[in-house]
Amino acid sequence: MEYQTLTQALDAFDRYQKTLSAYRHAMGVLSLDAVTAAPEGSWEGRGKTMEVLSGVVYDLTVGKENGVLFDYLQSHLEELTELQKRELEQARKEYDRMQRIPAQEYIRYNVLLNEADAVWHKAKAENDFASFCPILEQIVEFNRKFAGYYNPDLPAYDALLNEYEEGMNMETLDKFFARLRDTIVPLIEKIRRVPQIDDSFLHRHFPVEEQRKFSDYLMELMGLNRAYCGIGETEHPFTTNFGNRDVRITTHYFENDLASSMYSVIHEGGHALYELGCDDCYNYTLLSGGVSMGIHESQSRFYENIIGRSPAFVHAIFPYLQEHFPRQLEGVTEEMFYRAVNKAQPSLIRTEADELTYCLHVMVRYEIEKQLIGGTLEVKDVPAVWNRLYREYLGIDVPSDREGCLQDSHWSGGSIGYFPSYALGSAYGAQMLAVMERELGDVYSFVAQGNLEPITQWLKEHIHRYACLKKPGDLFREVCGEFDPKYYTDYLEKKFSRLYGV
Ligand code: ZN
Repeated sequence: MEYQTLTQALDAFDRYQKTLSAYRHAMGVLSLDAVTAAPEGSWEGRGKTMEVLSGVVYDLTVGKENGVLFDYLQSHLEELTELQKRELEQARKEYDRMQRIPAQEYIRYNVLLNEADAVWHKAKAENDFASFCPILEQIVEFNRKFAGYYNPDLPAYDALLNEYEEGMNMETLDKFFARLRDTIVPLIEKIRRVPQIDDSFLHRHFPVEEQRKFSDYLMELMGLNRAYCGIGETEHPFTTNFGNRDVRITTHYFENDLASSMYSVIHEGGHALYELGCDDCYNYTLLSGGVSMGIHESQSRFYENIIGRSPAFVHAIFPYLQEHFPRQLEGVTEEMFYRAVNKAQPSLIRTEADELTYCLHVMVRYEIEKQLIGGTLEVKDVPAVWNRLYREYLGIDVPSDREGCLQDSHWSGGSIGYFPSYALGSAYGAQMLAVMERELGDVYSFVAQGNLEPITQWLKEHIHRYACLKKPGDLFREVCGEFDPKYYTDYLEKKFSRLYGV
């Protein structure tokens, strides 16, 4: 199809984005339904529908007419708005990339991932790395090859990192993780030599019904508008959204663990505030939603740790806790509660790790991925390297692969290069706090009064409202200047040396 006028082309571009959004919306609701409400036996029909919809989306993305449309828009670049230019950049990127991936390889890879999920589940349950090894070898091989399709100009692992955090590279991450290691490893060593914090009261019996009410309270405190933000229950908590007026968070309740769901709700609530804070103009476009994994995690981990695990936040919610859990928290003071939710102790499972040791879990995965993609490590040697690094960084022995290199679903899902965004997000958040405090003064004085509004407003103004308009690196730099991990290591050092008196 030829375009006669720019208006005609822009109409077609608008239609293209709305159509893609609609399919993604439908597929997202299906995925959400699968893990929240759908009965167990319903997977087959949903699988078939998903297959058809994915096929339609694939065809829609790679369609030859898109090339014509994008070329036309490209030739009228100076007449486009800033928003349209960025939309075009995103569309082009996706299109060019899909053009480079041979259809046969794309299909084979997706079939492989489908199979990998089942193989990984079984291997994990049976603590049998050997059965997962051949499939992981293929996934690594595909990722190495795809890296070249994504961005042929970059080293393979850098190209994969860019899929999750545009502009990120090994050079930055090597320095970042080295700095983290130099701060955290000695700190853990010092903590090991002093008496550990008692958090046993967090493991008394907390009825799920009461915890559900507590979630409602926390969401209200965070200013999450329930007209646009729902909460459900799943095995693993997550956030999903369809534009800025339909955000869903999930949590998981454990009757003998109050902190688990509490901090899941605050973490996912942070993701949700980001999505809800995007400006309306990005809805139904390719720029809808949070810009990268790293920036997204900076928001969730900011609320979870920097705010949620602060003395001020505990002060604000303690009256509620005392009123609703009087028996369980009998004899527990605000100070004891604050200390308990900040207990730092090296452990095996990343998703259950505390604020201090968390990034070391990520670092182990980063080292392994870098070497796998770089070709200096074979998949069969992953368990040995994993266990050695856990000993080196966290000082603990890994008793089984189930609690070791088989614990996460990322690799079986094909997500290599994803993990570093968790650690980056934590560090971005600490640097944002420094800037926020320069502009707003002592933010914890608001928090202590249960007033998170100025904080959320600041984040909305500087981060949330832009959705995907700016690249993550630019967005961060404009608000915080150059990324400097020192803000994060200083924050950790100050907090945990004070907490443990070391
Ligand atoms: Zn998260």
